[in-house]
Amino acid sequence: MRKAVIFFLLTLSCFGAMGESKIWRKGYTFLNLLEDYHIPLKLYYNLSAEDKELTAEIYAGVQYQILRNKNGQLIQALIPIGEDVQIHIYKQGINYFLIFTPIKYFQKSHTLALEVQNSPHQDIFEQSKDLGLANEFLNTYKSSINFKREVIKGDKLAILYERKYRFGEAFGIPNIQATLMQTNKTPNYLIAYNDRYYNLLGKEVAGFLLQMPLSQVYITSRFSQARKHPVLKKVIRPHFGIDLRARVGTTVRSAGSGKVVSAGNKGGYGKAIEISHEGGLRTLYAHLSSIDKKIKVGSYVKQGQIIGKSGNTGISSGPHLHFGLYKNNRPLNPLGSIKTTRSELKGKDKVTYLVYAQKQKALLDDELEKLTSNNTSATTQGKLNKSEPLKDFNPSENR
Ligand SMILES: [Zn+2]
Repeated sequence: MRKAVIFFLLTLSCFGAMGESKIWRKGYTFLNLLEDYHIPLKLYYNLSAEDKELTAEIYAGVQYQILRNKNGQLIQALIPIGEDVQIHIYKQGINYFLIFTPIKYFQKSHTLALEVQNSPHQDIFEQSKDLGLANEFLNTYKSSINFKREVIKGDKLAILYERKYRFGEAFGIPNIQATLMQTNKTPNYLIAYNDRYYNLLGKEVAGFLLQMPLSQVYITSRFSQARKHPVLKKVIRPHFGIDLRARVGTTVRSAGSGKVVSAGNKGGYGKAIEISHEGGLRTLYAHLSSIDKKIKVGSYVKQGQIIGKSGNTGISSGPHLHFGLYKNNRPLNPLGSIKTTRSELKGKDKVTYLVYAQKQKALLDDELEKLTSNNTSATTQGKLNKSEPLKDFNPSENR
């Protein structure tokens, strides 16, 4: 592993090597990549079933890096899966190897506050130049505010969020930590806590309601994010979903209402279905033996609707259903997310939350106050307001 990293650094500085940044096309597969760069396909076929699954996690639109030598041969490739881990292919001698390495990124906190001029979506995009942020803002309020009916010009909003950056560009989806939408002088606060959104009283607001795809649930493999091994310092392979024991032919149902985005062969996931749901959520049902006739790309399904039968396609181990849940391409643990009712925080958890929520609220209130006192339509953190006289700008006071 250490050898591989050193090798990577060496080849990067190697004279004549060419690096290029590419976008993963829709429908492009890991095998396509190997074929395009004349890499022996055994690199894929020799992988374990789990690693084959992970190569099917590469999603359309993701930016990946290719490094070639002066003969045009691929010597390195870095392809993200999820937001934390990437597939690293490298050539050593005449052979190719594949390992999983952590994605190097830096994270930055941002704030945005503005007075609505056109619509929250348009205004957020114009201020931040971040379409992901505008979309995520709407997703967050989806179940609590009707933007078309309730929001008018002059309403105010504030967002605290984090953004990951990789190769100098925003990467992944912004993580909204707290947000305030003031409509008709009524504030609507949403505070993120353990991957879900709550109001100031600790009641879940934007929770998604999903059900298990099988009627009998027995978990054989749990969800895990990529982790760094504390001693070996290598990446522990993630498992972006849960495996449920199921005999071949067991009925599989949609976890929620939504639209079918893919149905068919998905590399290491075998025969699989992906359904997109509201709030930027997507579910994956893999290793199926058959897909229901009604399930076609673009068709709508209801929660609980039969979508196919479980099987063991795409894998060498026994039959099971691999069930994955994603929010904007970020894998989530389905177990923590499957709920039939919105939850309310209780006990110690609630006490901790309430203190945290008040802190976040104070930060949001601050942003709105700054907005009003600046008397401009927007403020963004770290940006010097040009209309302000320079003598008033004192960095030590503002920090
Ligand atoms: Zn699995």
